[in-house]
Amino acid sequence: MAKALDSFLEENLQQLKSQGLYNEIDVIEGANGPVIEIDGRRLINLSSNNYLGLATNGQLKEAAKCAIDRYGVGAGAVRTINGTLDLHQKLEEKIAEFKGTEAAISYQSGFNCNMAAISAVMDKDDCILSDQLNHASIIDGCRLSKAKIVAYAHSDMDDLRRKAKETAESGRYRKIMVITDGVFSMDGDLAKLPEIVEIAREFDLITYVDDAHGSGVTGNGRGTVKHFGLEKDIDFQIGTLSKAIGVVGGYVAGKKKLIDWLKVRSRPFLFSTAVPPGDVAATIAAIDLLMRSEELTRRLWENGNYFKEGLKKLGFVTGNSETPITPCIIGDEKLTQQFSKRLIEEGVYAKAIVYPTVPKGTGRVRNMPTAGHTKEMLDEALAVYEKVGRELGVI
Ligand SMILES: *Cc1c(COP(=O)(O)O)cnc(C)c1O
Repeated sequence: MAKALDSFLEENLQQLKSQGLYNEIDVIEGANGPVIEIDGRRLINLSSNNYLGLATNGQLKEAAKCAIDRYGVGAGAVRTINGTLDLHQKLEEKIAEFKGTEAAISYQSGFNCNMAAISAVMDKDDCILSDQLNHASIIDGCRLSKAKIVAYAHSDMDDLRRKAKETAESGRYRKIMVITDGVFSMDGDLAKLPEIVEIAREFDLITYVDDAHGSGVTGNGRGTVKHFGLEKDIDFQIGTLSKAIGVVGGYVAGKKKLIDWLKVRSRPFLFSTAVPPGDVAATIAAIDLLMRSEELTRRLWENGNYFKEGLKKLGFVTGNSETPITPCIIGDEKLTQQFSKRLIEEGVYAKAIVYPTVPKGTGRVRNMPTAGHTKEMLDEALAVYEKVGRELGVI
């Protein structure tokens, strides 16, 4: 190893460790379901994005197995060379139908979508107005495009309007985009899409919504854009196939013209191998299931509301969540870490999220109740919350 690299790693790893910021990753022994096993211990899992329990769904597993038997385990190439299977095409038609758009394009991950889509249309002559709390992949995707990035205060529509006006009237930019998460994953709040669309109309902004935490959850499962009835007004609808959909991959849904452009100009599509057939088949099965029945989404919300109400009744502060994402706000960073550690010792797997992921003094334990949890599991988790909350003087 080069000496320069060795000293860089040594120094920085040591520093993280001494600050208590080095994250030791837990290994799950078995499936990532509502109950997991770590170090041989059973834990109620309130940390996954597997909102609908589809990651372990029998129909999806069966679909994946059949596709593997028929197509094998790999797609063989990038999509444009000869990696596009009929399955990929079927998936994209399904996604477009599900999202209510003319067309869709699928990618290897949600993260990849943001690497792909932003820089395919935005460049150094353009400007992007970006919500301050947008996901890391949006931030990286914006940087990659080389456009001017102007952050606006989180969901602050006055700030967005002011900055849209300033950038539009400056005459310096060819195109201006407004970009936002659909559901913000740290608080579970929704983007104010109706106002964003109104501002976009006024200043001719391109609209881009990354609804990774919304699909399968909001809008009766069809996402946050559908929740607000804005399918015709949002240019880019981004989603992941790895959270509520339970598998892996991402997509952009929109007008056919946009999707045609992404197929010839988005680099992860052109230069990275397509998602394997088993995963694609499982994803198709998942979307079919969601289009047939809203039962899983209904159960997710029922469990989310039950858990949120339970925490509130115990005296915890759950913030301003509008979705099943349920933060339990503790405040102090050290206390938050200690709280999460005690929950895990008592059999509830819910992780601490602290500065810099969230603002200082708003440390929280984030809970993701899913459709797969039973009332008994949620009651058990609430009992542990009560015990740890009293022990640490939080309630
Ligand atoms: C999780 C997430 C992603 C990444 O999705 P993957 O499919 O896991 O790569 C992208 N954007 C947002 C807003 C997310 O929450």
